[in-house]
Amino acid sequence: MDNVKVPASRLVGAEGDGLGLIFEVVAPTFILGVAGVNAGLARGAYQAALNHAKTRAYADGRKLADIQAIQFYLSDMFGAVETASIYVQNAAKATVSGQEGAILHVMQSKITASEHAIKVTNLAMQVCGGQGYTGALPVERFLRDARAGAVMAPTTEVLKEWVGKSVAGIPLF
Ligand SMILES: Cc1cc2nc3c(=O)[nH]c(=O)nc-3n(C[C@H](O)[C@H](O)[C@H](O)COP(=O)(O)OP(=O)(O)OC[C@H]3O[C@@H](n4cnc5c(N)ncnc54)[C@H](O)[C@@H]3O)c2cc1C
Repeated sequence: MDNVKVPASRLVGAEGDGLGLIFEVVAPTFILGVAGVNAGLARGAYQAALNHAKTRAYADGRKLADIQAIQFYLSDMFGAVETASIYVQNAAKATVSGQEGAILHVMQSKITASEHAIKVTNLAMQVCGGQGYTGALPVERFLRDARAGAVMAPTTEVLKEWVGKSVAGIPLF
């Protein structure tokens, strides 16, 4: 934006408060929100794949879910979905209760939820086979959306740097 004048009455917070407001007000809400979306879409992909595995039948009467390799994938997805959900819920609880260091869990929750969403949506695509690749099932959409979570700012790489610096006691900036 060029030559935009904003009156002082429109200042958010006090002058010089910007960075603090970003980390104390904007980031917890936004990062937790994106983390929640990723945990949710991971669950959606898992449920779609589970439903497909239980209903797709072969000529000999066997269902997809009867195949051991598919059962392993269902187990991997189930665990990853719960891990993502529990991590996001714990980070939200820490934030709401004003727990010291909650922002660290908020940042890690987006990393964890995004990485698990990518893992789960890839497995869901594998479980659903060719149908998962088409628009017949919601899995391909979940996979694309899971990729977006890791790239949306702050990206997974940036968050990992912030979390790593924080636990090592190194200033972020
Ligand atoms: C779905 C979606 C919604 C978005 N919504 C908005 C929005 O509402 N408003 C807005 O302003 N922007 C938005 N963005 C843009 C988003 O902020 C950027 O995509 C993001 O900041 C990464 O910047 P970039 O795309 O230029 O990637 P680049 O900066 O080119 O980075 C490419 C890759 O390199 C990594 N990388 C870059 N620099 C470093 C570094 N110093 N250390 C480690 N790794 C690094 C990144 O993590 C990334 O993986 C959105 C993006 C997506 C995907």
